[in-house]
Amino acid sequence: MKKIPFNKPSFTGLELEYIKSSVLSGKISGDGLYTKKCHDLMERVFGAKKVLLTTSCTHSLELASILIDLKEGDEVIAPSYTFVSTVNSFMLRGAKPVFVDIRLDTKNIDESLIEEKITSKTKAIVPVHYAGVSCNMDKINDIAKKHNLYVVEDAAQGVNAMYKNNFLGTIGTFGCYSFHETKNFICGEGGALVINDERFIERAEIVREKGTNRSKFFRGEIDKYTWVDIGSSYLPSDVLAAFLYAQLENMDKINSIRKNIFDRYYKGLHDLEKEGKIQLPVIPHDCVSNYHMFYIMLENEIQRNDLINHLKQQGITSVFHYVPLHSSPMGLQLGFKEGDLPVTENISRRLLRLPFYNDMTEEEQDYVIDSIGSFLRGKVLLSKELAS
Ligand SMILES: *Cc1c(COP(=O)(O)O)cnc(C)c1O
Repeated sequence: MKKIPFNKPSFTGLELEYIKSSVLSGKISGDGLYTKKCHDLMERVFGAKKVLLTTSCTHSLELASILIDLKEGDEVIAPSYTFVSTVNSFMLRGAKPVFVDIRLDTKNIDESLIEEKITSKTKAIVPVHYAGVSCNMDKINDIAKKHNLYVVEDAAQGVNAMYKNNFLGTIGTFGCYSFHETKNFICGEGGALVINDERFIERAEIVREKGTNRSKFFRGEIDKYTWVDIGSSYLPSDVLAAFLYAQLENMDKINSIRKNIFDRYYKGLHDLEKEGKIQLPVIPHDCVSNYHMFYIMLENEIQRNDLINHLKQQGITSVFHYVPLHSSPMGLQLGFKEGDLPVTENISRRLLRLPFYNDMTEEEQDYVIDSIGSFLRGKVLLSKELAS
């Protein structure tokens, strides 16, 4: 039987060469030769004021939460349909998450529901660009401006995607990228903080370097570095940056491979959508996706789970996410409850992510498409029928 994994890290072929060169450079700690190359490339391509590599997107979010001086009891507005780090990073600084429901079409935070959640304690909005498709950033930035809030884009899935003429991550006060093995451009574990407001650049360098002014020291601006602020160790080894550089250099190539995979799924599953059996992803006209993932929406949870099992029997791994943060064990402990966010809960029960990796062959994709088709057109028995 064919085996189709859900995800597989893909390589551009230059990773080992760059890692070797980083090792031979004699400096493999943070902010070496390849870290600088990654910073320069992203600042140039994305038109960002400042980009700093970090050890993960989670850590970029933590760095941002330190920079905005969150205090105990401050509130941060975020979707519940997201990965835990979107809110954990702010809770570590004492903030309280305030969840907003999502839109049925993009699965992004519903911008029309944000304003009613703002209180005198609200400090920031954290939009998550789900699947590499942008939130309505014009509206979100307008709300933030009106209420004097920071915007921290969780662009973990949105590297190299665009909203109107801007790259995701460069639109809010800060942007946070992930280079985790499951994302589009990878180095195993890694991330970056994009700083779009110059006032934060100097302090960001300090917080990222354990609260010291070592970055200034390396640039020769001071002759001794010392402790000047709170901070942590958020910079990755240059060996990882070398791996990442091999990926970033090939961003457009990787993007076009992923576009082909996305388009093939879309075309192959379009008839099922016309027959009313599934819904396909929606990309608003002012967004350019980076094709981070492909998902389909089923009718209900039972059908979705039956399809997962059917695909598994065909050797295909498909997965669903997220258990909404508000109805997770931690969310319930915080006082949220099932029923708080109807669209989030509905989507979470019906969404299914299909296998997606750069090396996926057309044959593999067609096998997935055919397996979904035969299941939904009633050519296989459902679990209920099998049991009876
Ligand atoms: C992957 C992901 C993260 C975490 O990224 P890491 O680099 O693994 O810390 C955060 N938010 C979202 C939306 C993600 O998809």
